Amino acid sequence: MKNFLSLSLLVAVLLSGNIFAQQNQNTVTFAIGAFEVSILSEGHNSGNGNMLIGATPEILQKYAPDGTFPMATNAYLVRTPDKNILVDAGYGRNLFDNLKLLKTDADQIHVVLITHMHGDHIGGMLKDGKPAFPNAELYLSQAEHDYWTSDDAMNKIAENRRGGFRQAREVINVYKSKLHLFVSGDWNVSSILPGVQGIAAYGHTPGHTAFLLHSDNSRLLIWGDLTHAMSVQMPHPEVALSFDVDPARAVISRKAILEYVAENKIPIAGMHIVSPGMGDIKKSGDGYAFTPFCLCLSL
Ligand SMILES: [Zn+2]
Repeated sequence: MKNFLSLSLLVAVLLSGNIFAQQNQNTVTFAIGAFEVSILSEGHNSGNGNMLIGATPEILQKYAPDGTFPMATNAYLVRTPDKNILVDAGYGRNLFDNLKLLKTDADQIHVVLITHMHGDHIGGMLKDGKPAFPNAELYLSQAEHDYWTSDDAMNKIAENRRGGFRQAREVINVYKSKLHLFVSGDWNVSSILPGVQGIAAYGHTPGHTAFLLHSDNSRLLIWGDLTHAMSVQMPHPEVALSFDVDPARAVISRKAILEYVAENKIPIAGMHIVSPGMGDIKKSGDGYAFTPFCLCLSL
């Protein structure tokens, strides 16, 4: 923590509850206690209303009037006092350039936490069939591992759509000597690493896991793909995604986690929330509202 960025963060800590430093449009860093959490943006796009399950014409008219909703794809870098932790690896598109902007080389990543094994989350894990993060230990929920390595699960998918299984299996295989399987649980689950708990958020995939960070008295829940369409799923968390493996279960997880973070004032970060990707959730009517962290102190 000796560089300009850290000094700026320290100043920001003193001045503001919302702490940030911006290196460019692809990385923004906030302090969560002694942890520095940076969004690593893989880019913005828009999702189509026909990806949504349970969105009535009235809901779409109100929250996605042109039939689309804003979306992004992100990974996150968490720098603790003694470890560099990558949470998901995006597509691997801007990932390595973004890490460089944060003065972190791929071989300086000590830990990779995977929320789930879709291609937009593990795309950066391999380089030419080898570990892109050669010194990293890989943490994956047992349930997620079991799904992607299950022949039964794979055989239920049409043959021409099994690429995701092959990609997940290759990552698991290449990192097998560094693989740590853990059981995700409720808010009291024991820590995987100091300051990191794996919270079960099953449904989008069978082992989909959110990571709760805590440092000093601050917390942040990096909730992976708990939402894809914030503009629709905040007011209507009952709306699911056509590519949820179990949409009904995804709705149950989303509602339970939203209720908990709103009640306990735990800020969140998401892999498909547009930059800065992190913010606060509060109850609003029958649903919820999201307020992005303030970019109050531009460098
Ligand atoms: Zn995703």
